[in-house]
Amino acid sequence: MSEAVIAIDGPAGSGKSTVARALAGALGWSFLDTGAMYRAVTVEALARGLDVHDAGALAELANSVTLTTLPRVTVNGRDVEDEIRSETTNLAVSVVAANPEVRRAMVRRQREWADAQPVGTVVEGRDITTVVFPDATLKIYLTASLEERSRRRGDEDADSVARRDQVDSSRAASPLRQAHDATVIDTTDRTVEDVVGEIIRCLTAQRSR
Ligand code: C5P
Repeated sequence: MSEAVIAIDGPAGSGKSTVARALAGALGWSFLDTGAMYRAVTVEALARGLDVHDAGALAELANSVTLTTLPRVTVNGRDVEDEIRSETTNLAVSVVAANPEVRRAMVRRQREWADAQPVGTVVEGRDITTVVFPDATLKIYLTASLEERSRRRGDEDADSVARRDQVDSSRAASPLRQAHDATVIDTTDRTVEDVVGEIIRCLTAQRSR
């Protein structure tokens, strides 16, 4: 594992990507958006005409594709940055992410990625504090009101956000849940700088223990 990992989980629109990116920038660390990985696999499955409920086909795909998330989200070298946020992808991604074999393939990649980071890394998703990095240096759970979360999601309406949260929290494989030792931060009425500042104070406190 990289020297330090800050793991961030939370539902859709809770501010994970924005906060994780800004936090990584402030610390000079790298950043991994694991939702973009599940979205990229989904885009590729749909492009190939696969049935997203076909567990075997999806597992094979997840194990064989080449993925990048930065500077652009690509799958097998194809730029899918725009497609990963489409309504079609929003509808299908939680089905793909509920597949235990797909998760196994993604978790393996996420750990390998963190291992290769020279300093520290900020990783955000749904199972980062609970499954991927249960021994992370710091664990954060972000939340916000449904109204605020759907406002942040822009094109995705409140029903779609709520439906995705429901599927992500109730699936058998690595459901979204708060780790018992995560610091919970409600981002509803707070600025990105404010939340990043709180996380950096938590990190400093954690390290001086
Ligand atoms: O974070 P984002 O909304 O882009 O994630 C898209 C979807 O990917 C989530 O709704 C969830 O189904 C899945 N996901 C997951 N585990 C992660 C990250 C994302 O299951 N670590």
